[in-house]
Amino acid sequence: MCCVGLLKVIAIDEQLRVIHENHVNFDKELPEFRTHGGVHIHKNRLTVTSPVLMWIKALDMVLEKMKSSGFNFSRVKALSGAGQQHGSVYWNDGANLILQNLPPDVPLHQALKSCFSVNNSPVWMDSSTSVQCSDLEEAVGGAQKLADITGSRAYERFTGNQIAKIYSQNPEVYAQTERISLVSSFAASLFLGAYARIDYSDGSGMNLLHIREKIWNSVCLDACAPGLEKKLGHPVPCSKILGPVSPYFVKRYGFNPNCKVIAFTGDNPASLAGMRLVEGDIAISLGTSDTLFLWIREPKPALDGHILCSPVDTNSYMALLCFKNGSLMREMIRDEVASGSWEEFSQALTSTPAGNGGNIGFYFDVMEIIPEAVGIHRFDSQNNSVPSFPKEVEIRALIEGQFMVKRIHAEKLGYKILPTTRILATGGASYNKDILQILSDVFSAPVYTIDTANSACLGSAYRAIHGLVAESNVAFVDVVKSAPGPRLVATPATGATLVYQPLLKRYMVLEQQVLSEAKIPTVASSE
Ligand code: ADP
Repeated sequence: MCCVGLLKVIAIDEQLRVIHENHVNFDKELPEFRTHGGVHIHKNRLTVTSPVLMWIKALDMVLEKMKSSGFNFSRVKALSGAGQQHGSVYWNDGANLILQNLPPDVPLHQALKSCFSVNNSPVWMDSSTSVQCSDLEEAVGGAQKLADITGSRAYERFTGNQIAKIYSQNPEVYAQTERISLVSSFAASLFLGAYARIDYSDGSGMNLLHIREKIWNSVCLDACAPGLEKKLGHPVPCSKILGPVSPYFVKRYGFNPNCKVIAFTGDNPASLAGMRLVEGDIAISLGTSDTLFLWIREPKPALDGHILCSPVDTNSYMALLCFKNGSLMREMIRDEVASGSWEEFSQALTSTPAGNGGNIGFYFDVMEIIPEAVGIHRFDSQNNSVPSFPKEVEIRALIEGQFMVKRIHAEKLGYKILPTTRILATGGASYNKDILQILSDVFSAPVYTIDTANSACLGSAYRAIHGLVAESNVAFVDVVKSAPGPRLVATPATGATLVYQPLLKRYMVLEQQVLSEAKIPTVASSE
C-alpha cells in the first residue's frame, strides 16, 4: 500500500494473522528524490507532486527487503493494495507494451523509466485547480448537480480537475498520454504487467464517475479533456480479479503464476475495509481533525462531505466527513477552563446532565468545513445568544456540539442509525471514556475502540482474500469474521435518545443562525 510518506506491505495467512510486515520510507530511504513527507511542495504552495519513479523504486526496495528476509512469495494466493486517493499517473504512448514485457533481471524503476508522460504526479495535497473546478461545476449545471452525479462537488485535488489542468496547460503531454491511472490502479498495473482498471471506490474521488450507474459521466469527461474515456479504461467492481501476477514477479521473486491481482483501491476505502465496517456502522477518528467514515445504503450527496462507492459491497456507499476543529479545539477549552487537565475536563463531563440543561455551543477556532463558520457561539435553553457559560457547561457544550454536528451532517448525507449500528472510535480523544460516553448518547449507539495503525494495509490484505471468493457471492463481512473484534467502551445511557432528539433539532436551527450571521457583510473601516 502506498500512502503519502511510506510504502507499506502486510502479508496475512488464512486465519487473518499478520505474518509479515515491511515498509520503505520515501524521504529517508530514497533521499535522491529529495521529498519531504513523500512530496514536493512547489513554489506557488498550491502545486504538490510526487516523483512517480520514487514510488516504483520503493516497490523494488520493499520486495527486495521481503526476499532477503526469506519471505516465501510462492505462498501468496492473492494480492491487493491501496494508494493515496486522488493522485494520478500518466503513462506514455507504448508503456503498456513495456509493462507486458518486463525483463526479470532489471529492477522496475529502470525498466519503466521512460514510461511516463508526466514524471511528477499530482497528489491529494495539490490545490492548484480552482479554475478547472469552477469550469466543471458550470459545465454540469452547478455544484449540487456535480455532487448528485459524482458524490462530491468539485474539489481541487480530485483527479478530473487535475487532468483538466494538465490538458489545458500541456495539451501535447496530454496527447502523448496513452493511459491515466490513479495511484492505486498504477500500483496494480505494476503487479499485473498491464494497465489495471480503476475500481469504483477510488474512482469516486475523481469528480468523473457516476456513483450510482458506475460508469464515467460523459458530461464530466468532456468538461475535463477530450478523449478521456479511452485514457481511463472502464472502471471495475472493487473485488474484481484483474488477472494473474505478471511473469516478471514469478521469475524475479518466485511468485506463484496463479497468484491473483485483485483491484486496488484508495487509502480511505481500504481503511474502511480494514476496520471491517458493516452496514449502519460509523468509524470516527478523533485526532487533530475529526473524520467520519459512514456505511450508507441510500446516499444523498450534499455540498458538504463526500460519497464514494463502497470498497466492499457493490450495493452500498461510504461517506466521508471531515471537521477541522477537533482535538486542538478540545485542548483549547481544556486549557482555558480545566487547568490543562483531561481529568478535570472529564469531571466536568460527568458532573453535568445529558443535554446540558438546554445550553448549546458552537466552537470553531479555525474556519470549519462543516458548517462553514468560525468563532465561538453560545446559546441558552431559550436560544438566546450568551457571551459565556459556567466552566462545566462550557465543556459539555463543546463535546455535545461536536457530536451533534456530526450526527446531523451524517444524516443529511443519507446515513441511518440501525439497531445494529456500532461506532468505532480511534484517535487521541478515543482514550477518553467520558468523551466516548457522550458520543454514544448523542448517536444512541454503542461505542467501541479499535486499533487502526495499519487499517488501510490490513484492509487491502482482507480485500485480497475476499477477491478470491467474491465471484461466488461470498460477502466481505463473512470473510473477515475471524479477525479480532473491537472493544466495547460505552453504551447509550437510559433516556439519552429522548434528551438529544429535541436538542438535535434546536442545534440544526441554531446552526443556520450561526451561518447566516457569518454571512452578514462587515462594513469596511475607514481608518
Ligand atoms: P493525529 O490526528 O495527529 O494523529 P491523534 O489521533 O494522535 O492525532 O490525537 C492527538 C490528540 O489526542 C491530541 O491533540 C490530544 O488533544 C488528544 N488527546 C490525547 N489524550 C486525550 C484525552 N485523554 N482526552 C481527550 N483528548 C485527548
